[in-house]
Amino acid sequence: MASLVEKIKSLSNSLAQETVGNRHHLHMHPELSFQETATQAFVEKQLNAWGIATNRLANTGVVAIIEGKNPSKKVVALRADMDALPIIETNDVPYKSQNPGVMHACGHDVHTSSLLGTAHILQTIKDEFEGTVKLIFQPAEEKAPGGASIMIKEGVLENPKPVSIFGQHVATNVPVGKIGFREGMYMASTDELYVKVIGKGGHGAMPDACIDPIVIASHIIVAMQQIISRNKNPKFPSVLTFGKIEGLGATNVIPDEVNIAGTFRAMDETWRAEGLEKMKKLAEGIADAMGGQAIFEVLKGYPFLQNNPELTRKAKAAAIAYMGEENVVDLDLWMAGEDFAFYTHHVDACFYRLGIRNEAKGITSGVHTPSFDIDEDALAIGPGLMAWLAVNELDS
Ligand SMILES: [Zn+2]
Ligand SMILES: [Zn+2]
Repeated sequence: MASLVEKIKSLSNSLAQETVGNRHHLHMHPELSFQETATQAFVEKQLNAWGIATNRLANTGVVAIIEGKNPSKKVVALRADMDALPIIETNDVPYKSQNPGVMHACGHDVHTSSLLGTAHILQTIKDEFEGTVKLIFQPAEEKAPGGASIMIKEGVLENPKPVSIFGQHVATNVPVGKIGFREGMYMASTDELYVKVIGKGGHGAMPDACIDPIVIASHIIVAMQQIISRNKNPKFPSVLTFGKIEGLGATNVIPDEVNIAGTFRAMDETWRAEGLEKMKKLAEGIADAMGGQAIFEVLKGYPFLQNNPELTRKAKAAAIAYMGEENVVDLDLWMAGEDFAFYTHHVDACFYRLGIRNEAKGITSGVHTPSFDIDEDALAIGPGLMAWLAVNELDS
């Protein structure tokens, strides 16, 4: 294995130019969630050119298999997401988005080109490892219900069935050259809440003749925060934020209804279900007690993301062997969502972070911003590291 790690590193370095070229192509031609047709064709063309057969799944997704020696020994899956965001890019770079209003601002072009690099490496060394690697190029991470959930429904985790799965995502707070891991709960479930509070509008000087939905909605918002502070087990982080309140009255007009919208995030599926149930009861109960009505609706998002502790420990040790201890960092919990979470509830999973930040080069913008970019030195690391994690896991 010692010689294999060196071989993978050297392949990753020598393919870096190709990987960067692929990233530039994808960055210039970004596609929104569930519309990744050109991206799909590009991924297929690259894989086919290296002799890797491809299948389509979830309409715009691609799945491919690389068999080593003794392919039935064990199957490990590697996943990249492929979709872009509705953002107008402000970077003045030669590989700037050519698709107006659409931008790879979450690094999914990096993930896709990196996994292509990984595929090229694994295909090159397939006589030197045992088992099978399943490559998953997934659409629509950014949009509910999430491409991952559709791929799982369409059988991506069957035939052959992976025992574990790895996903890699850029991290704008991790310097280039470093990799981050976290065992156990890592990212949050994300549900959207919509509460319509129905009262009875009228003249602002005659509240006795009205049922004021503004006051009812205010009580609901304040009371709901106490579900987080009083009902939730403090061991599990959870967030409730209402970012929108709309009551279209006037200084002297009480409106008929108020609409509030928010996000509920959790790190425990039992609490997630209980919390939503309690919020619904509370909103309906408060509105009812005050003479109005509340209609509580939930747009269910992704589950929370759990990294299998044993798999993550093994991956971290493998990353240390690949990068050196000083370049492997521990990650904090993050209350954002990620549809890789769906896989983590079906199979042992490890979602880790590729450092792309470089303050000296001014590369500090966050994901989902119009000036997001990466230090492309990360593309010499990402493909090889993922190949090494897969080979290491197949061998364990
Ligand atoms: Zn994103
Ligand atoms: Zn992302």
